[in-house]
Amino acid sequence: TRVDNPFTGAGVYVNPEWSANAAAEPGGSAVSNQPTFVWLDRIAAINGVNGGMGLRAHLDAAVKQAAGKPYVFQVVIYDLPGRDCAALASNGELGPTDLPRYKSEFIDPIAAILADPAYANLRIVTTVELDSLPNLVTNAGGTATSTANCETMKANGNYINGVGYALNKLGAIPNVYNYVDAGHHGWLGWDSNLQPAIDVIKQAATASGSTLSNVQGFVVNTANYGALHEPNFTVGDSVNGTTVRQSKWVDWNNYVDEASYAKAWRTKAIASGFNSNIGMLIDTSRNGWGGANRPTGPGPKTTVDAYVDGGRIDRRFQTGNWCNQSGAGLGERPKAAPEDGIAAYVWVKPPGESDGASSAIANDEGKGFDGMCDPTYTGNARNNNNMSGALPNAPLAGHWFSAQFQELMKNAYPAL
Ligand code: BGC
Repeated sequence: TRVDNPFTGAGVYVNPEWSANAAAEPGGSAVSNQPTFVWLDRIAAINGVNGGMGLRAHLDAAVKQAAGKPYVFQVVIYDLPGRDCAALASNGELGPTDLPRYKSEFIDPIAAILADPAYANLRIVTTVELDSLPNLVTNAGGTATSTANCETMKANGNYINGVGYALNKLGAIPNVYNYVDAGHHGWLGWDSNLQPAIDVIKQAATASGSTLSNVQGFVVNTANYGALHEPNFTVGDSVNGTTVRQSKWVDWNNYVDEASYAKAWRTKAIASGFNSNIGMLIDTSRNGWGGANRPTGPGPKTTVDAYVDGGRIDRRFQTGNWCNQSGAGLGERPKAAPEDGIAAYVWVKPPGESDGASSAIANDEGKGFDGMCDPTYTGNARNNNNMSGALPNAPLAGHWFSAQFQELMKNAYPAL
């Protein structure tokens, strides 16, 4: 039987492979003992890629680390057909119509391993198919932000049915806790996006035989950079009678940070029929925004833009920017039940692993080149045509990016 919050009173698995990469960096031992998620990002990852650890090897290592105590094992399920339909950097191996392969070659073998009685004492936390369902909401409606691939994935139903299948299969295992990706405040924080996103996730969570009880909660800010708290302004503030929602940065959003967004999401999801004991996870791996450029107080109350831009800790050009953001730092270290309604701060994206290559790199992982990872790119409709803000010289998505890791440590908040 499941506990309400799997993180309470439990240790969390430290991925030895990520830990070794971090420890090999100068100063990296300050964080190399932190728990990060294991990413199953292709079929081959189940057995291990390039001699690396597969799922069983990780689970065996987790059982050892647990040493009989309550222990969480965190894994990302990420290989949907037509993956990453609004971007190119994390396109995957399965084509838009490959739902049968997704089920039989990806989800079924994962479920078979997770159900092994040898792992029955682990609390297995999954995050399921980040970005996919949110993309159906904002990038498949025939609007300026739409992409042909997202239109295809909306029309063929394979995101909905794939996520439903995954939730149903994994949710049938009593020690698995499924957390569905809920985007981030800079994506779904507008009222016009938020409830529609909950509705689409509800549709997926009740597809392919699944029910809402297969969902233990949601995860926000996965692999993104949104601030946990903006300490120097709130969405309710105004300057000379003008709401900060009218500032260029906030742009009418109803939320200004991830914590307020996650809590509102939870309330609305429960009102929409999800279980009343759902918990929220926040990926804080790279949203620290510390270092020398972090504002120490509010901006001047001259205009809403001066006030918000002077005070905001998130230094991106725009909240739609997502690739290897320059100036970012490690965020809050993983922590159980840190705030009301928040099950845990977690590090879903392993810091130091690239979001995407800065220029085209040939590969056999299905990954493309996305301009949003090129520091000279001037943007598209999804970041309101702003500069990408990406670091230069980045390797392929998922590959170790030493320079980024160094910067993340330097700008960590709390500082290391
Ligand atoms: C990549 C995956 C990788 C993950 C974690 C994603 O952007 O597409 O291949 O496992 O990041 O670094």
